[in-house]
Parts: sequence; C-alpha cells; structure tokens
Amino acid sequence: MQLHQLTIHEAHDLLKNKIISSVELTQAVIDRIHQVDAKVKAFVTITEEAALQQAEQADEQIASGKINSLTGVPVLIKDNMCTKGVLTTCSSKMLHNFKPPYNATVVSKLKDCGMVMVGKANMDEFAMGSSTENSAVHVTHNPWDTERVPGGSSGGSAAAVAADECIYALGSDTGGSIRQPAGFCSVIGLKPTYGRVSRYGLVAFASSLDQIGPLTKDVTDCALVMNAIAGYDPSDSTSVANPVPDYTKSLVPELKGLRIGVPKEYFVKGMQPEVEKTVRTAINKIEELGAKVDWDVSLPTTPYALAVYYIIAPSEASANLSRYDGVKYGYSYEGPGSMWDVMEKTRQFGFGPEVKRRIMLGTYALSSGYYDAYYLKAQRVRTLIRHEFDKAFEKYDALLTPTSPTVPFKIGEKTDSPLQMYLSDVCTLPVNIAGLPGISIPAGFAGNLPVGMQIISRPFNEEIIFKIAYTYEQVTGWQKQKPDI
Ligand code: GLN
Repeated sequence: MQLHQLTIHEAHDLLKNKIISSVELTQAVIDRIHQVDAKVKAFVTITEEAALQQAEQADEQIASGKINSLTGVPVLIKDNMCTKGVLTTCSSKMLHNFKPPYNATVVSKLKDCGMVMVGKANMDEFAMGSSTENSAVHVTHNPWDTERVPGGSSGGSAAAVAADECIYALGSDTGGSIRQPAGFCSVIGLKPTYGRVSRYGLVAFASSLDQIGPLTKDVTDCALVMNAIAGYDPSDSTSVANPVPDYTKSLVPELKGLRIGVPKEYFVKGMQPEVEKTVRTAINKIEELGAKVDWDVSLPTTPYALAVYYIIAPSEASANLSRYDGVKYGYSYEGPGSMWDVMEKTRQFGFGPEVKRRIMLGTYALSSGYYDAYYLKAQRVRTLIRHEFDKAFEKYDALLTPTSPTVPFKIGEKTDSPLQMYLSDVCTLPVNIAGLPGISIPAGFAGNLPVGMQIISRPFNEEIIFKIAYTYEQVTGWQKQKPDI
C-alpha cells in the first residue's frame, strides 16, 4: 500500500511508532495531488508549502510525545470554512480574493490536534448545488468515471478522499451536501445532529440547516474526526452543550436487538432500479447480521420535504447573502456610478446564476403578502416532518434509506433543469429539516458506479449510526474498493 492510500488510523499507527514521518506522508499526498488532480479537479487552492511546514511542526510534536489521532495527518477543507490567511472563496467570484482574518472553530480544533492542511476543496458556489457544476472555478470530476459528477456541494472534498488526494476532508451539509457526494464517490460522509459541530466560521448558506461534518475513507476515521470537531462553542449560539462521547467506543460489530425501519417513501418514483436493488440488498445484509428490520414503515410527510426545503433554504440564503455588497470584503465592481450602482453591479457580476435564482426565490417567499403563504407555511410543515421523525424514533433506533435516487450522473446532464438537480437530494434533505444526524456509507456498485446507503438516527445519537455503519463495513468491505484513476 502506498502512503497516500492510508486511512487516518493506519497513518496514525505508523506515525506513532515512528515508522513514517508526517513530512513523508504529506509529501506522498502532495505527489498524489500533482499526479491526479488535473483529472479530478478537486482543489481550488493547494497549500503545499504551508502543509510541509505544518508537517514539520507535527513531527516535532510527535517527537516530544504529544500525539493524538489526527496529528500530522493531511486534511482537505471545503472552501466555505474560514482559514486564517488562506483564500476562502466558496468557489464564487464574489469571494475570489477573500482571506479570512480568523479560523473557523473546526479549523482551530484541527489545528490544536496538529493539523496539516493540504488545501481547500472545490464546491458548488456558496454550497448551492448537487454536482459542483455551479462552481465558478471549475467542475470536479468523479474519480470512478471522470465524465460524471462527484455530487455536491462538497464534491471536491468527496472526490479528493476517493482519489486519495488527502487522508480525510471536511464538508458542509445543508440539504445533503456531505452525504450525496459521499454516496457518489463511495466514501463515508456524516452530517452530524444540528448543533453538534460549531458553525462559527462556516460561510452561512441556510443557518437553520447548515452543519459541518467529516468525509473519510472508513467509519473508524469518521468517528475519530467527530471526536475532534464536535462540541459546544460559545461563538455559535446554536451549538449544544451536550457532552461529546468518545465515538470510537461505538465501533463494535453488534447489531442484535437494534430496531430498524425502512421508510417506503424514500424509494421515490423515478429511482433507478439498480440503486433500489443495491440498497435493499444492503439492508438485507443488516437484517442477516441480527438487526430487526421493519420493511414497511411509512413517513407520509416525506414528499413535502423538497418543497419545504426550497422555501426555507433560499429564504435564509437571501438574508445571509445580503452581506455581499462590494464594500466590506470580496469582489467589488470598479466601474463608475453611485454607491447603489456599485452594489448592484457587484451582485450582478459577483454571483453566478444558481445563487441569483436562490436569492430571488427567497426574497419572494419572504416578501410581505407572500410570507404567510410560503415561509410561514413551510415552517409549519417543517414541524410536522420533525414530529413524524420523533414518533418513528419511539419505535426504531435507526432508519435506512438510499442516499440518492440515482448513481452519479453525467457532467452537463442536469444543468438545464434546476428541478432535476434539486431532486438529487430528496432522500437527504428531510434529515436537515428535522436537524437529525445522517451518514452515507458505501453500499455497493451499480455497474462500476457507487451507490450509497443512508443511516438516520435520533438527535445526538451518532453512536447508533456508527455502530450500524461499522458493522456493515466490517462485513462487506466496500470502502476498500478504489477507483482506477
Ligand atoms: N443540493 C442542495 C442545494 O442545492 C443541498 C446543498 C447543501 O447541502 N449545501 O441546496
């Protein structure tokens, strides 16, 4: 095995026993980036020099006996998380020159662990999209088939983990942006419970839905990253002060006694039959392994989630994105005109078409006269969806669904139809609406294309998710399959 292929826990064992150094590992990852990123295009910024300096520091730290699971292990960060002094563009022209004066809390936490950051990951502009085709920089290609999308919006993070261009990555998930690309690239992607991980320093898209989470090569790594990034943060008023368990304690292969529900509404009309078949086979396996599976669960409010999401998310986005006016930071139109002209032109030229579409949808839904009919109603249905999940979790410890109704689609296939693109997230966005934790794990392949399975559980019960994911992974080993890139 080559160094860039290591998982976090494998790399950690070698670092701890001084068999390799962080500088060697980091150099191997950088070489890999140079070897394949021209094809994958997962990065918007490569921080080669800084990474090697951080690796040297990590090696000193290790030599002095101070090492934890993440020390000296190369990470890639999605480009919507603030990194002090390093470009944070959200893959938007609007922030093309923005170097934040501070670190996001997750970045500070990784720094405290001895972080080695190899770069910033491409994404759909401001995290709006499901394919990275909305990036103003370039499209990321799926390492399993470079004519296809890696999913989005954390497509750069997922593709880089799949192609071994980093050992692990961070993404953000507002409606599926960690899980859907994880499914498309056959890696692990967890959206934690809302409030579990601080959003401080995450460029806001829809604040009541956004959450940061790990993208990793296996479930053990996912638990290790969660141990490092979860927890209360006084700088994020929505973060929750529940104690953070040691998630690695949940990595036990034992499903006996677990009650699992399979909600039929997630096998939506138009789902590709081979995706449905692969996911049902995966659930069968979980039943064989000892869990008690109820195959006939109904969550009847599910079909409304898409509409609710596409009112609430754009509404919040329209408010959050009003701060880009060309005055405080980022792109500023330089032509002649009044202050108002400059603001208008800055927004006209700084934002891409999808971002403008969301701002218009959101502004409309919030405007007087329409507010009650759209925004308020969507909030009410949101409460119904949440209650329905609460009730389901009185009976079941977890719910299993497909991550996405299709395998990765061809680049360009859905760009003419925003609605088709929005449908990529039908299975993931109810989880954000209800603030629940959800993971996507590799469940097999349809042809040579990855299929993901989603595991959802109660708020602050990531442990059950880890238990199921770990057990399944140990038996099937799908996570070990690598794209030939
Ligand atoms: N694809 C969804 C959207 O475009 C979700 C994006 C996300 O989770 N950031 O809004």
